[in-house]
Amino acid sequence: MQTLTTIADLRQQIHAWSQQGERIALVPTMGNLHTGHLQLVEAAKQHADRVLVSVFVNPLQFGDASGGDFERYPRTFEADRQKLVESGADLLFFPSQEEMYPAGVENVTRVEVPGISDILCGKFRPGHFVGVATVVAKFLNMVQPDVAVFGEKDFQQLLVIRRLAAELCFPVEIVGVPTVREVDGLAMSSRNQYLSAEERQRAAALYRTLQAAKERLVSGETDMAAIESDAEKILREAGFCPEYFTVCRADDLQPAAAADTALVILAAAWLGEARLIDNIQLQR
Ligand code: AMP
Repeated sequence: MQTLTTIADLRQQIHAWSQQGERIALVPTMGNLHTGHLQLVEAAKQHADRVLVSVFVNPLQFGDASGGDFERYPRTFEADRQKLVESGADLLFFPSQEEMYPAGVENVTRVEVPGISDILCGKFRPGHFVGVATVVAKFLNMVQPDVAVFGEKDFQQLLVIRRLAAELCFPVEIVGVPTVREVDGLAMSSRNQYLSAEERQRAAALYRTLQAAKERLVSGETDMAAIESDAEKILREAGFCPEYFTVCRADDLQPAAAADTALVILAAAWLGEARLIDNIQLQR
């Protein structure tokens, strides 16, 4: 597996692969790789001949009010590289901040997907999805992949990226991969390591609460407000500080009405120093 750090070198390699008629898959990450990320690599291998993984902790998506989240985000390059070698990725792209934002993070041209970027996580993390959309658009232009692979764990992000790709006419197929979980159901995340041992024991309550809400919906309940407020109460009792717990339409994340059939329940909640997000989809 090659590791490249400049856009020029990246383009040269991509060009060579394209000349040979090889399909290219892109897996963008912020590093600190776990089994969830490696599952994206597996999916990418099913869709392409060459798999390129980017590792870049993107300052633009953290926001001014992130309280040091960008600085403390775990950076584990050598371990990541080793995992990618073992996973069979072909190329690791590991650009510096200067390579990605030569005119400075403040001055970069931005990409905004309106509406969906301002609700749920976007409401609590202003500017976050502009940062995500901008960096993903840059990667899509640099790599020009046939396929780009993202996790359903970040469900809102996946929808932002689907709209970005469709509306800006990127000739790429966006593939979503189901959330990979720990044995007790906690969604794998780089931020789980901010949990103390005792919090880690309690953290799976987030997924259990999502499952309980799903069961109520599947069994025909239609009072979304009751389902949401019961769930928030359970989470508070388990020591979480919920930001939101909400039943939405799966296609546009608007509040679900009784007649909607394709649904997703999304939650974000703090547990100690960790902001956890998770979601569960359902049909009824
Ligand atoms: P991150 O490095 O956290 O920005 O995530 C990079 C990609 O991995 C995103 O597309 C995430 O949705 C995806 N991802 C992160 N955690 C998981 C997980 N537990 N299961 C599946 N995909 C994940």
